[in-house]
Amino acid sequence: MLRTDAVLADPRLAEAVGRLGRPIVKAAVTDAQELARQGLIGPAEVAETALGSLPDSATALRPVLNATGVLLHTNLGRAALSEPARQAVLAAAGATDVEFDLASGERAPRGRSTVRALLARVPAAQAAHVVNNGAAALVLAATALAQGREIVVSRGELVEIGDGFRLPDLLSSTGARLREVGTTNRTTVADYAAAIGSDTGFILKIHPSNFRITGFTGAVGVAELAALGPPVVADIGSGLLEREPLLPDEPDADSWLRAGADLVTASGDKLLGGPQCGLLLGRADAVRALARHPLARALRVDKLTLAALEATLTTPDTPTRRALRAGERELRTRAQRLAGVLSAEGIPARAVSSRAVVGGGGAPGVVLASSALALPEEFAVLLRQGPTPVVGRTADGCCLLDLRTVAPEADDRLAGAVRAAAGERGRCAGTPPQVAVAAHGAGGGRAVARSQTPERPCT
Ligand SMILES: *Cc1c(COP(=O)(O)O)cnc(C)c1O
Repeated sequence: MLRTDAVLADPRLAEAVGRLGRPIVKAAVTDAQELARQGLIGPAEVAETALGSLPDSATALRPVLNATGVLLHTNLGRAALSEPARQAVLAAAGATDVEFDLASGERAPRGRSTVRALLARVPAAQAAHVVNNGAAALVLAATALAQGREIVVSRGELVEIGDGFRLPDLLSSTGARLREVGTTNRTTVADYAAAIGSDTGFILKIHPSNFRITGFTGAVGVAELAALGPPVVADIGSGLLEREPLLPDEPDADSWLRAGADLVTASGDKLLGGPQCGLLLGRADAVRALARHPLARALRVDKLTLAALEATLTTPDTPTRRALRAGERELRTRAQRLAGVLSAEGIPARAVSSRAVVGGGGAPGVVLASSALALPEEFAVLLRQGPTPVVGRTADGCCLLDLRTVAPEADDRLAGAVRAAAGERGRCAGTPPQVAVAAHGAGGGRAVARSQTPERPCT
């Protein structure tokens, strides 16, 4: 067989080394040589197979199929961008008029079309500003409106958002002082009123987006807080701009502004389904004070984010929304079709019912009925490490691939990934591969189906 160096001398692979770097291309060649050693491809096909399996980009970040059933999985980058948002990122990637007026040839307000799109979606907002993420939106509000002063907030709303980061610590780090009121389970409007004074910067209302307190509870709504006098900053977290009928307990920016909040803060990559960013919406004077604060420059978003956010706002049928609204029957049909195709090839796949969640700090306690492909548990690791990494979840000895978080257009890719994992499993078990995928990636795909994989039911 040709040595690796000799294969890499192929001009097409040499070009790929220039584009993707040597380690990626070399790994693809080594994989193809392994397939040749196993007799699955001919020695002359090594270069071609390696080419076909090369990734599209030079980043080590791998696109994965989110089959976890968690719509917004923080470890998987939260919301997947819509096709228009991806196109917008590409369009904005070079030089762009993000801060330039082509008609006058003068400087123009940065991201003005994105702000216009935001205001069109949230009629109750007079102005809007975009920062790096939801945490940055809170930091900017606390710094600009309450540094050296007090933020009055309920003890029931002091959230840890994840990875050990806690909103009270974040807020205190700005030099604002937290004035905690009420108790974990109950806070009344009198608690807030008693704490308000000349030192009050603002009242903060935080949506408890990743936990629920039930039982003997009480919290004060935005409308009552707004009547107390000081400005009200309200953190909705999820980024819903208008009411979502399927999530009646999730607040939305428009409703909380209408209820009297001066500012609403939110994340862009949660239920809004856009890029990571933080939204600040509300009264013109408050938004202007934030946008002109020196710290705003450090929290500024780049043109790619502005482009993706604008496209998300103008074409709101995002993968997140589609996953949320997918019908149970449609999900079941997809699971049954996939299970049928794969089991006919001898792969022990079954369609089962499943339970998906929003995740990522949204709609705690809400369960979305779903359907999944159930495979033996050892598929989980094989799928994660396959050519198209798939992340599922394991339960009751099964690897479950939940279809609510997989776009219907990706079903065939999902099936391909399961086939590849089944082939790998056959090899691992020391038995001849039942299904072998000799090459993967655009143009190089080739599946060799053999008969009868022994059934290993997982329950
Ligand atoms: C998620 C969340 C945040 C933090 O937003 P990031 O975009 O992750 O920085 C803040 N507040 C609430 C209520 C949240 O749900």
